[in-house]
Amino acid sequence: MPSSTVSYTAQNGTREPGLMHRSLLERPHQVVSGSGIYLTLADGSRIIDGCGGAAVAVIGHGNKEVKEAIIQQYSDVAYVHTMTYTTSSAEELANELTELSKPFGLTKAFFVCSGSEAMDATMKLARQYHFENGQLQRTKFVSRRQAYHGGTIGAMSVSSNLPRKIPYEGALLLDNVSYVSPAYAYHGQKDNETEDQYAARLVQELDDEFQRQGPETVIAFVAETVGGATAACITPPRGYFAGVRKVCDKYGILLILDEVMCGSGRMGTYFAFEPEGDVRPDLLTLGKGLGGGYAPIAGILISQRVVDVLAKGSASFVHGQTYQAHPAGCAAALAVQRVLKREDLVAKCHTKGAFLEKRLRSALGDAKYVGEIRGRGFFWGIEYVQDRASKRPFKPEVKFHKRIHAAAHDRGLAIYPGAGTIDGINGDHSILAPPLTATEEELEEMVRLLKEAYDAVEEELG
Ligand code: PLP
Repeated sequence: MPSSTVSYTAQNGTREPGLMHRSLLERPHQVVSGSGIYLTLADGSRIIDGCGGAAVAVIGHGNKEVKEAIIQQYSDVAYVHTMTYTTSSAEELANELTELSKPFGLTKAFFVCSGSEAMDATMKLARQYHFENGQLQRTKFVSRRQAYHGGTIGAMSVSSNLPRKIPYEGALLLDNVSYVSPAYAYHGQKDNETEDQYAARLVQELDDEFQRQGPETVIAFVAETVGGATAACITPPRGYFAGVRKVCDKYGILLILDEVMCGSGRMGTYFAFEPEGDVRPDLLTLGKGLGGGYAPIAGILISQRVVDVLAKGSASFVHGQTYQAHPAGCAAALAVQRVLKREDLVAKCHTKGAFLEKRLRSALGDAKYVGEIRGRGFFWGIEYVQDRASKRPFKPEVKFHKRIHAAAHDRGLAIYPGAGTIDGINGDHSILAPPLTATEEELEEMVRLLKEAYDAVEEELG
């Protein structure tokens, strides 16, 4: 098995690579091929992709049908400019998605190349909606602590991933964003509080924040339906989003749900908000699993309410990007949707998700440093704490999430590591987000390797 920390010189002689990697100290492992749940590295070793990259590889690697669809699109036409032209790939992808989203009032789709761009475009569209409605005083966003919405200026401004924000705070990021508590029961729900009471308290906090800002000045409330990168699969308490919807409606504030990470079927329903009852977002973002990693594509689903206002006004979304609705990206995403549908992978994810949960809980549920296991479908977070009784996290310098990540990699399993910061407290977690094609045996093997990795780290720390 490869060593999980690879220095530049160890892998590549003394040559400095020209490619700027995220870390200047460690070099990522080079992947030479991918098939199903497996990645093969340059040294020949095989890694189980237990997190689908970053919850991206929704149908696994090396799918021939998707590859052929992309090749076909390139043979037909590689690029058209969307001001004048469209392609059947873009039109059909929009139709496939809106067929799923129309029952929830989302009737149009718009495609860009990444989740971050989708978030920025969504924020602009939300503002344009109010602008065209004559509500020019609406200039603010309310978001949540413990949120991640992307790396571009707008998306980062509504995020609260502090380490990624600090260099840019006060210089580049928007200052018209305020934050409320995340729906994070493990840390936020009080001992004497029921789930309903907890949800009601969070909704009241949001209402109070709207009041504090002046509700007539707020454009939208932005939330991941299920918190991902900085929070590891935190599902909201029952009734939370229904309450949020009501408060937004009370003041004419739009509800933006970000499902870049938790959407596209990964949670056993195509949209993660589906189990939340009668919740209708005004705008919803998708990414990652939309193209399943086969092409950079993300999207916005837009409610009829927003479409109607634009239709009566400028009749256009004032946002253009050269590569929007790129034919190859749309062809890839369309083929991914067809595989998901034909193989009934979303419904299977729901059933196999219950199996995965059972296995995870029995392997790690009672472990000394495991605070909580949470999620749904094929999107599971494991939060690590130094002390289970007080939920006290490890000190950041322990880098627990990195240790588990490295130990898992050394055993041939890729998991997604993370450290969230909630009100100044650091927390460590891992995310398991396998391809929806994974079999029960493969899921079992992932859990076995994860447990082995965890045991090794527990032993290391004593
Ligand atoms: N929104 C959420 C919830 C995400 O998890 C991410 C990425 O992790 C993004 C947006 C940004 O997506 P991208 O990295 O494709 O720009």
